[in-house]
Amino acid sequence: MRYVSTRGGVEPITFSQAVMMGLATDGGLLLPDAFPQVADADLRRWAGMPFQELAVEVMHPYMGDDISRRELAALVERSYSGFSHPEVTPVVKVGKQYILELFHGPTAAFKDVALQFLGNLFELLLERSGGHLNILGATSGDTGSAAIYGVRGQRRIDIFILHPHNRVSPIQERQMTTVLDDNVHNIAIEGTFDDGQRIVKDLFNDLAFKREYSLGAVNSINWARILAQVVYYFYAWSRVSDGDTGRRLTFSVPTGNFGDIFAGYVAMRMGLPVERLVLATNRNDILSRFVNSGIYQAREVHHTISPSMDIQISSNFERYLYYLMDRNADKVAGLMEQMRREGRLSVPEPLRGQVAALFHAEAVGEEETLEQIATTWREEGYILDPHTAVGVRAAKAFPGAVCLATAHPAKFGAAVQRAIGSEAPPPASLQGLMEKETRCQILAADTGVVKSFIQRKLNERNE
Ligand SMILES: *Cc1c(COP(=O)(O)O)cnc(C)c1O
Repeated sequence: MRYVSTRGGVEPITFSQAVMMGLATDGGLLLPDAFPQVADADLRRWAGMPFQELAVEVMHPYMGDDISRRELAALVERSYSGFSHPEVTPVVKVGKQYILELFHGPTAAFKDVALQFLGNLFELLLERSGGHLNILGATSGDTGSAAIYGVRGQRRIDIFILHPHNRVSPIQERQMTTVLDDNVHNIAIEGTFDDGQRIVKDLFNDLAFKREYSLGAVNSINWARILAQVVYYFYAWSRVSDGDTGRRLTFSVPTGNFGDIFAGYVAMRMGLPVERLVLATNRNDILSRFVNSGIYQAREVHHTISPSMDIQISSNFERYLYYLMDRNADKVAGLMEQMRREGRLSVPEPLRGQVAALFHAEAVGEEETLEQIATTWREEGYILDPHTAVGVRAAKAFPGAVCLATAHPAKFGAAVQRAIGSEAPPPASLQGLMEKETRCQILAADTGVVKSFIQRKLNERNE
């Protein structure tokens, strides 16, 4: 198995190289050169398998000789041992639909499923190469904590996460700053999320600094993150269908950067019986407008009660575009260039039909989201978080759909309170956070200041 770039400018590379590269060096995204095919007999055999075993079956064909099955099994075991549910990602029936609970990880959101795995995978690859990686990222809240939990305590990784001081929710702040491992460095920027992002971008563009300090990112463009997410589509299918390969399922996915739903697309291309992918967005509807019109065009970002989906541009969308363009990298590069120049791109008519045949897209407003939380609570006694509620609402016309639950409702207490009059009881991972010891450095929103802090910390750590 080799990996290629959506823009055609990278010589085929191995799985390990793709993981360490992250973003392709030509500015595109990395993808496998073929999808391993899953036969009906495999699907039947996998039904009833524990999550961890299934994960090895699904992921190993993507790794070639880089990682043995035994090594992968150990990685998977370690990555999911911190989940509070024995099934890792259990499926529950709620009314006419199924809820795939992806929030049993240490930070109570679905990003744990991929980032727990990615952290351990990085560590394994760095052990082999003898290297050290310094992860740098800016967060508006959720991704930061999942990334920190993914690498805490790893010997060959340090992580620096910038968040806007006093502008993330108290729970989100505590989830990050109560992690006291020596390799975790929280920085509160006296500024906004955009300031944090700008500083991170400046530092990545400082090539001498980037090279000297081996800076890397953990954003959703890493192929290993997508791969880890493919697993739970198979898992959900195996639990709901009971191995009946005639049973095609519809999945509803609360979508922001298109990573999660793209994993569903990959599962389908591997042979999972998928009927429809419901692409659910909040008011930030660039993707639903694309599915319904063939035109992909950014507008301003709206702040909503499902903040992890408040995006303007979906970083993984280019991966889907590559397949839509029949793997013609020149066409993808052309479209992305059009996007850069004109702020929009459009795909030709016959392809729009292809998009609409697979995806059902809906943008769900704030009132509808709150209403869905209230209805599901009243009728089924189940509390949805606002992201999951967007997906459940968008799948209304699809009874029997599997709705991906991307966050625990206790993480978004204010919205849940508005919808049903009280907050959801917190899982163990969120209890007692406010009483715990914290560590965090407050810094000016200045690239030079952040750069010296990182240098000083890393020099101290090397002594
Ligand atoms: C990140 C996130 C999403 C969006 O997932 P994408 O892969 O970016 O589409 C949805 N819900 C929650 C809670 C998230 O944290």
